[in-house]
Amino acid sequence: GATIIDGKAVALKMRDEQRARIEALQARGVTPGLAVVLVGEDPASSIYVRRKVKACEAVGIKSISHRYPATISNEELLVLIGKLNADPNVHGILVQLPLPAHIDMAKVLETIAPEKDVDGFHLYNVGALVVGRQIFPPCTPYGVMHLLEHSGIEIEGRNVVVVGASNIVGKPMALMLMARDATVAICHAKTRDLGQWTILADILVVAAGVPNLIVPQMVKTGAVVIDVGINRLADGRIVGDVDFEGVRKKASHISPVPGGVGPMTIAMLLENTIISAERTAGIRGPADEF
Ligand code: NAD
Repeated sequence: GATIIDGKAVALKMRDEQRARIEALQARGVTPGLAVVLVGEDPASSIYVRRKVKACEAVGIKSISHRYPATISNEELLVLIGKLNADPNVHGILVQLPLPAHIDMAKVLETIAPEKDVDGFHLYNVGALVVGRQIFPPCTPYGVMHLLEHSGIEIEGRNVVVVGASNIVGKPMALMLMARDATVAICHAKTRDLGQWTILADILVVAAGVPNLIVPQMVKTGAVVIDVGINRLADGRIVGDVDFEGVRKKASHISPVPGGVGPMTIAMLLENTIISAERTAGIRGPADEF
C-alpha cells in the first residue's frame, strides 16, 4: 500500500517555523498583516475565509476581514483595494474567489499591488511564474510542491501529468513543475482518453473537481498521486477526485482528501504573507529563484 502524504501534519509542522519568523519580524517592529476581502454570502467561501483567518491567528499574523454584500459595485471594491494597497500594515491582500458576476474579476486582481498579491493571481506574478521567478506562487500548487519536497519525491526528469488546467491550480502547477525540470503534460475536460495520459505519470496531480475521476487502472504502479479535488457528495461527505481506496493499493504515495492539499493551501498563504513582510523589513529580496 501507498505511503499517505499527511498534509495536515506538514502544515502544522510549518507553523512552528513560521511563528519563529514572525517573532523575528516583530523584533524589528513588523507584524505581518493579511487583509481578507469577502464579497457576498457564498457558504464555501465563508468557510474558507474563516479557516484562513483562524490559521493567521494561530501563527501571529494580524488578519483584517473586509466583508461586503454581493451588491457592492466594482468601483467601491476597487477603492477598497486601493486603500489596502496604500496601508503599510497590510502585507498581503486576498480577495476570496469566486466574485459575484457583475464584478470584473480580472480588473480586481490587477488592481491589487503585485507586491501584496499573496494569492499570486496578478498578471505580473503570473508572468514571473512563466519565466521561472518566484515572487508569490499561487498557494495550492505551491502547497503541492512543498508536499512533494517533504515526501522526498524527485521531480527532475520525471513524467508528471496534471489533470485540470485552471488558472488557479492546473496551469501554475504545470509551470512550477516545469521550473523543476519535470516533463509535464496537462489534461483537461476535452482530453481524449484521459487514462492513456495518466498511466504514463510518475507523479499524477489531479485538480478537476470530479469525484472518482481517477481509478486504479489509470494509474501506473508506484506512482505518486496528489489529489487536489474537493467535492461534496449528496450525503455530505467530502471527497477528492481520486478513488482513494482503490488507488492507494497501486500508488507509492497518495494524498488524502480531506487532510492532504487543503491544509497546505492555507499554510502557503501564511508563508506568502510572511515572505511579503520579510521583504518589507528588508530581510529578503523581491524575488527568489525556483
Ligand atoms: P476549475 O473548475 O476552474 O477547473 C477544473 C479543470 O479540470 C478544468 O481545466 C477542466 O477542463 C478540468 N476537468 C473537468 N472535468 C474533467 C474531466 N472529466 N477530465 C479531465 N479534466 C477535467 O477548478 P479549480 O479551481 O482548478 O479546482 C479544481 C478542483 O480542486 C476542485 O475540486 C476544487 O474544489 C479543488 N481545489 C482545491 C483546493 C485545495 O486547497 N485543496 C484549492 C483550489 C481548488
